Amino acid sequence: MVIDLDKCVGCQACSTACKAENNVPHGSPDEQRSRRDIFWNKVIAVTNGKYPRVNTELIPMPCMHCDHAPCVTVCPAKATYRREDGIIVQDFRRCLGCKYCIVACPYGARSFNSKEQEEREYHRHDLPPDRNVWGQWPFPTRTHGVVEKCTFCFHRIDQGIKEGKKIGTEVVPACVEACPAEARKFGDLDDTGSEVSRLLASRGWIRLREELDTKCKVYYLLK
Ligand code: SF4
Ligand code: SF4
Repeated sequence: MVIDLDKCVGCQACSTACKAENNVPHGSPDEQRSRRDIFWNKVIAVTNGKYPRVNTELIPMPCMHCDHAPCVTVCPAKATYRREDGIIVQDFRRCLGCKYCIVACPYGARSFNSKEQEEREYHRHDLPPDRNVWGQWPFPTRTHGVVEKCTFCFHRIDQGIKEGKKIGTEVVPACVEACPAEARKFGDLDDTGSEVSRLLASRGWIRLREELDTKCKVYYLLK
């Protein structure tokens, strides 16, 4: 995923789309105020400088899908793992809820879910009957007591591949689709002709906490 920091306007459409797509629970107003609400994608504001010379950077933060993922290394249950295509996924059936991965992740990408999800299963009825989005699961429901995070909407990717669609143009994660500023792009970095590859070749970019050698798969284009 390539995110253009110059284009992001901080509207949070990506965060909202992610919640809706992935059945991510909404906290009570109290939880939201105390920032205990769960987000698989959030937009943080980082303020630099000193008054009156201050500026604020808006940084959209999904899971970085690290090639060298500390969360994978520490998980004692092998509940989180890297797929062949590079997406780091979470097997809710294996997750013990020990939270080691939350501690290990340098990007704050993981959340412990203490809420029951089944109450929101009504979303299932919005899906086409043949859309078996999560392997053997009809929808990403999970019980309380597991850790969860952004999946790059792999259910969309897998379905798109099955239907012969082009990933990155016809099929993208929900946050990319929802972004009104077109700040987010998604695609295959191994394909030199893809839009993400072309953007990285033509613009300056950074990855967060590069010093940790996590080899993130989220790149930020510089202004
Ligand atoms: Fe794991 Fe955190 Fe890297 Fe995502 S950002 S792959 S949760 S270490
Ligand atoms: Fe930024 Fe796009 Fe997310 Fe809005 S939807 S906060 S513009 S990345």
